[in-house]
Amino acid sequence: LQGVVAVDGPSGTGKSTTARGLAVRLGARYLDTGAMYRAATLAVMRADVPLDASRTDADGHDDAVGVAMGADLVMSTDPTEPRVRLDGADVAAEIRGADVTRNVSAISALSEVRRHLVDEQRRIVAEAAADGVGIVVEGRDIGTVVVPDADLKIYLVASDTVRAGRRSAEDTTAGRASDPSTTGADLARRDKLDSSRTASPLRAAEDAVEVDTSVLDIEGVLDRLEDLAAE
Ligand code: C5P
Repeated sequence: LQGVVAVDGPSGTGKSTTARGLAVRLGARYLDTGAMYRAATLAVMRADVPLDASRTDADGHDDAVGVAMGADLVMSTDPTEPRVRLDGADVAAEIRGADVTRNVSAISALSEVRRHLVDEQRRIVAEAAADGVGIVVEGRDIGTVVVPDADLKIYLVASDTVRAGRRSAEDTTAGRASDPSTTGADLARRDKLDSSRTASPLRAAEDAVEVDTSVLDIEGVLDRLEDLAAE
């Protein structure tokens, strides 16, 4: 594959596993845009400024916006070893923790931060095109905003029960405390914030193919997506 595949959908639908697995199968690069919003959130938390953009710095920027936009973020796009570096150090584990997860929707609602990260995402997509390789880009607004002319747009969905079960299994594997009922509440809270914000709310692109991952195992989902990519 030489083009762009956009994979969007809410949390817990298996987006990361699916998008990464698809990139491996297609010999394409992989970009996890959620990891970028998470790393920008971690930068703001480390700087210890309010997350709600209520304080202004000397340049007239909201502190949170200034810190998030100034963060030294480097994404690696190898699907067999996706890495996120903040200030030169790998933060892959830290950005999945409960603190970042709780705060990420506040940072991703800031339109200046979104514009900045979208520019960086488009740069990475353009680089893949220039190198003649495909790229699978995963997020919430890839098919609608980041790459509206993507060659294939996938919108993943899954039942609430399946999503909460998956998220809590992920937490357990990563050694974090987990409980499906609170995980379900957290997913519902983030869905609400992500789909009701003014800046690029979560929604399916009109030309996206909806794939329900509740009923298929990962290999089944990948087979289906690989077929769609080959069309
Ligand atoms: O996909 P993941 O759960 O890592 O995304 C974390 C958060 O980042 C989402 O809840 C959403 O607020 C934000 N996000 C976004 N746009 C994207 C990707 C993620 O707003 N393209």
